[in-house]
Amino acid sequence: MEQEASSNRPPGSIRKPILLSLVLVAALAAVIVSIFFLREGKSTKAAREAYNLVFISIDTVRDDALQLYNPNGAPTPSLNRISENGYVFTDVIAQVPFTLPSHCTMLTGTYPMKHLVQENIKARLPDKALTLAELLKQNGHQTAGFIGSIVLAASVGISQGFDQYDDVFTLSDIKFADLGGVQKTADEVYQSFRRWFDKKPPGKFFAFVHFYDAHIPYEPPPEFIPKTITREGMYKGELQYIDSVIGKLYDGLAQQGIWENTILVITGDHGEMLGEHGEYGHGYFVYQPAVRVPLVIQLPKRVEKTVIKGPVQLVDISSGLPLVCSTTLRRKAGRTSPSVSRKVKRWSPSAGDRG
Ligand SMILES: [Zn+2]
Repeated sequence: MEQEASSNRPPGSIRKPILLSLVLVAALAAVIVSIFFLREGKSTKAAREAYNLVFISIDTVRDDALQLYNPNGAPTPSLNRISENGYVFTDVIAQVPFTLPSHCTMLTGTYPMKHLVQENIKARLPDKALTLAELLKQNGHQTAGFIGSIVLAASVGISQGFDQYDDVFTLSDIKFADLGGVQKTADEVYQSFRRWFDKKPPGKFFAFVHFYDAHIPYEPPPEFIPKTITREGMYKGELQYIDSVIGKLYDGLAQQGIWENTILVITGDHGEMLGEHGEYGHGYFVYQPAVRVPLVIQLPKRVEKTVIKGPVQLVDISSGLPLVCSTTLRRKAGRTSPSVSRKVKRWSPSAGDRG
């Protein structure tokens, strides 16, 4: 059943959805921490545990191109299924419609003016930047990244904090003569992730998985090519393909019982204009199709599908997750069960200085 966190309730009935609505206008960090700890409570076993984190970034995904957000979107049976037990955010804004700057924002919790990565080609994330991977690695998680585009190669600094980072590309991965043209398929990225996952030692982990197929060129596998070939149809075919791989990943880990102690985040770095306002691709303008992205979060203890309508920003994702995943960070923050945004600022990577 679908719930809406912003729904009205009788006066005096202060329940968790009401508490959620109070923080919707605050940072997404507060929302993530709140939905976890308000739901679990201070003294529960869950509040004392550490959790794995699987973070999936779908490159070039505008929210309304997905059936999850729009009946006319690409069929997304996997996302629909996963969201039945999670939180779906319906108003999520990326800070910049470029792959590398947006991922730097996503993984550092800082704006481009702070992390200084404002384009794809010549920029490099400074070593002094504190990433989600570094935070979790320093506090006991194994960390690994699997990318679909050379734009996110380790050489640009975004791999800092990862114990393992698969950015190996071969000549067959070159689709056209441009940095963005060097890419792997979602299946290849998933297989790389599984090779790591199946051999990794026991212990908590953070896996970052990046699917790049929806970026140009739109060349979905044959079974996802629409009967009538159009630019938009081929784009949606790529999204449908990615959704199928996400389903494979999700079900594969479900067989291992992973989701009982793992947080799953699925989002995107930016959208795609598809000809609106005269732009194909993304990167020139910041119209809604270029910056609106999906966000689905599934927590270890499943909930009925909960739709959260308040506006949130991509920059806040990595601020909320470390505290939820790491008991060590919770202790450092001096809280065993932080539940309001002002407490989040104590330990946030940005610490109130995210530029
Ligand atoms: Zn991108």
